Amino acid sequence: MSELLSQLWTPELQAAFTVVVILLVILYVLSIVWVVRDAYLRGSYWYVWAIVALIPLLGIIAYCLLRPPLLQIDRDEQELEIALKQRELMKYGECANCGYPVEADFVLCPNCHQRLKNLCGTCNHALDPSWTVCPYCATPVGGAAPARRSAPRARTQQPQQAAPQQRQGRTRSPQGEHPAP
Ligand SMILES: [Zn+2]
Ligand SMILES: [Zn+2]
Repeated sequence: MSELLSQLWTPELQAAFTVVVILLVILYVLSIVWVVRDAYLRGSYWYVWAIVALIPLLGIIAYCLLRPPLLQIDRDEQELEIALKQRELMKYGECANCGYPVEADFVLCPNCHQRLKNLCGTCNHALDPSWTVCPYCATPVGGAAPARRSAPRARTQQPQQAAPQQRQGRTRSPQGEHPAP
């Protein structure tokens, strides 16, 4: 048996075996480097994964199965995108009566004709029913246009709930400095 082994175990085979072992070691080291780098890019605990990766073969398989699905940079981008979408949505409100999407300066709901905003008698801007003064031209709404306010008051109880959202798009309008006549 040992004779057969020594016959088979030629110097050529020894050299080939050494090459294979060296390649495996290189592959092992590279796999650890890859795991550490990848875990770092994914914002994971890379030092924990470095220890796991020390287990030959099993370590890298475990990492591939359990690693976080997104790179940190992709996750940041996704969060930014969601925040942007939310801001875009905040420019729009919805009709408190029928839920139809309405823009911040809509006066009536285009779907059910529910009054959403009052109009300023002086500058014709859309005003939230809860405001007592026009923020664009400083006209007092309650005193200047009592007919406007008292009539839709009963029907505009609901739109006040949607008002904080609708107001967002308007607050930074630069047209506040019209001189009052
Ligand atoms: Zn409506
Ligand atoms: Zn006004």
